Amino acid sequence: MTSNPVLPAEGMEGLAATITEGYQTLRQITCLEDVYEIMDFLMDEVKAKYTNIRCKIDCAMCCKGLHPPYITAAEWELILYYINEFPQIIQDEIIRRARFYVAQHRDALILQQKMMNGEIPAEEIRETYQVLAQSLKNATCPFLVMDKCGIYPVRPAKCRGMGNTLVQINDQVKVHTCAWEISNFEDYMHKQGSRALTMPVWNIFEQVVDIINPPDSLKAVIPIWLITHIEGNQLAENLNPKPEVTI
Ligand code: SF4
Repeated sequence: MTSNPVLPAEGMEGLAATITEGYQTLRQITCLEDVYEIMDFLMDEVKAKYTNIRCKIDCAMCCKGLHPPYITAAEWELILYYINEFPQIIQDEIIRRARFYVAQHRDALILQQKMMNGEIPAEEIRETYQVLAQSLKNATCPFLVMDKCGIYPVRPAKCRGMGNTLVQINDQVKVHTCAWEISNFEDYMHKQGSRALTMPVWNIFEQVVDIINPPDSLKAVIPIWLITHIEGNQLAENLNPKPEVTI
């Protein structure tokens, strides 16, 4: 999708007002659960208006390949507490999956973390994405079970926003979704006769989530958080917001 100004699409003024109100509420928020609540509300509003969005039907495209997201320490902390309540047999399976993922995709994980840390020169980013997409094409998020999210109530912000938000990258605005859905939106906009879409912008949520995290804490993909929170053969009980990443 090419550059696309974020303007209210015709007939979507009510949704635009709801999104603006959501942004204003976000300004006063200091805890992640409240961010998630607002996100879920806004995503439901978007899905109700854009009935072309197919990812409301069971779909795990954004849990596979390169898609599982970079997440913050606060997001991981919620997940960690949640999975620590699982029966031991499920925790053992999570640990097995984390170790398998790291063994299978060690080089790609190291490269992803270098990208996250800003260690890849700008001119190499596109090529690095292509390398990662190829290396991770058969990967799935360790929390995906039979094409469903095993940690759905505490899934990270990025997972909540996928498919129902726009994302601004430099001067370009795109639908924040998988390649399959982007072509679906191209058809939608073609029929609509305009490229205007009324959706929340992911970057706003990302900024809010970053603000409520401890300064200098790690941002990493889920398998890195998992592998750095295994102690012996058990999940750690408490968050280490800046673990050393040695995989
Ligand atoms: S956390 Fe859940 S929704 Fe997010 S990528 Fe993993 S399985 Fe998918």
